[in-house]
Amino acid sequence: MGSISKEHSIGTDGCQMHERRLSLKDTTSNDFRAVKRDYDHRVFVNRSLALEKIKCYGFDMDYTLAMYSSPDHEELGFELLLDRLVCIGYPHEILEYKYDPSYPTRGLVFDNLFGNLLKVDSNGNILVCTHGFHFLKGPEIWKYYPNKIIQRDDTRRFHVLNTLFNLSETYLYACLVDFFTNCTRYLNCDTGYGHGNLFMSFKSIHQDVRDAMDYMHDSGCLKEKTLEDLKKYVIKDPRTPILLSRMREVGKVFLATNSDYNYTDAIMTYLFDDGQDPDKDIDTIKKSWRSYFDLIVVDTRKPLFFAEGTVLRQVNTDNGKLRIGTYTGPHQHCAVYSGGSSDIVCDLLGVKGKEILYVGDHIFGDILKSKKKQGWRTFLVVPELAKELTVWGHKSELFDELKNLDVVLAQSYQHMDSSSTKHPDISSIQKQIQMPHESTVEHVSADGPDESKEQLYFYGKQRLTQLTHDSSEEDN
Ligand code: IMP
Ligand code: MG
Repeated sequence: MGSISKEHSIGTDGCQMHERRLSLKDTTSNDFRAVKRDYDHRVFVNRSLALEKIKCYGFDMDYTLAMYSSPDHEELGFELLLDRLVCIGYPHEILEYKYDPSYPTRGLVFDNLFGNLLKVDSNGNILVCTHGFHFLKGPEIWKYYPNKIIQRDDTRRFHVLNTLFNLSETYLYACLVDFFTNCTRYLNCDTGYGHGNLFMSFKSIHQDVRDAMDYMHDSGCLKEKTLEDLKKYVIKDPRTPILLSRMREVGKVFLATNSDYNYTDAIMTYLFDDGQDPDKDIDTIKKSWRSYFDLIVVDTRKPLFFAEGTVLRQVNTDNGKLRIGTYTGPHQHCAVYSGGSSDIVCDLLGVKGKEILYVGDHIFGDILKSKKKQGWRTFLVVPELAKELTVWGHKSELFDELKNLDVVLAQSYQHMDSSSTKHPDISSIQKQIQMPHESTVEHVSADGPDESKEQLYFYGKQRLTQLTHDSSEEDN
């Protein structure tokens, strides 16, 4: 987040760019590497963005301005979900499961017909498929999914776990499927479990978990536990107020969160309280976080907010209650609103969609909708990327080795055409693709599992699966 700084807008100035280019001319690639920022401080673009054209910066709160500590926060969510499921009748034994942060990853898909968790690419091709904690192999996957592909937009069947809040939910699907599959009281069927004269479909398990998720968020129990131990659950970055102050020097700044006012107030007070002055009275602190924004909107109900939206109400900041009726007056600085829509935000701030850069963590609710429906410029926060890049950076020689093996493979097929009768023998290449894992990657080191190595192993395995799959397709 700290990357949007004055330093970046300076980069757009022609003269300074020229100076920079001159000084970079003599720089060797090694020196260049040394001056690069850490991965978690870098900003990546998939199209150019002229920051001088941005007149307004908008922020989401949860997992954007307020980063929750991982895995503590997911673990808390997981335990609350288990409690809720037991409350509605699930067996007590499920409470034995403990959250394992190494298992779930963002973006997996739950198939509520067969109870599988899937990792798919952007076209819906299945890369990994698990049933409980069992990783399915090629032929097993084909049995469930004849073309090894799914229609991701079939939202009645496939549930995409898009946000970091969904990590505990993801792991819960794996635990429940694991439990019912292995518990002798239940009969395993293709689309669920039999239990006496009851049938529990994966679809009903999915519905129960979704209801438990909504309950955990809407009842406020997750929020209450989070607020009880903010130090444990919320990462406080002292640069946040500095970043927002700098942005306000060059444009307008607003907050648009789906959270309610009382929670937003408590989290933002914590994030913006500098902790220097314990005698500071609470009103001054509260005012201070609000004063960083030109507009604050809570209960936004994104993605609806980017379409027709809901009634805009004013929040009474003394007690968090909503004023009745739709707010129709002019924008009041430091006032807090509830609901509304992206059109209303543009009207109140006097800006156009293209002039807004909105920062959020939800690829669908924050980014896709704001961009496609309103033309806002978007900035997606992906904390996991730092870990992924560390793997690429630190293990680049092994990735190069894998790439070279790909080339060798391509060469062995290079002179084949439809008249070729002999297949090249790729068994030794396949073996070598496994080699980086076997020769250098141990599953668990003295310090615990080495995740970067695990990911490399995963990549190698994935490549291997692809190769095996490709060659068996040729066989057919
Ligand atoms: P934002 O990211 O600041 O817009 O806020 C996210 C809000 O959505 C938080 O108040 C969460 O508690 C809530 N939330 C996240 N996931 C779910 C869900 O699955 N059901 C209901 N509320 C959710
Ligand atoms: Mg968010």
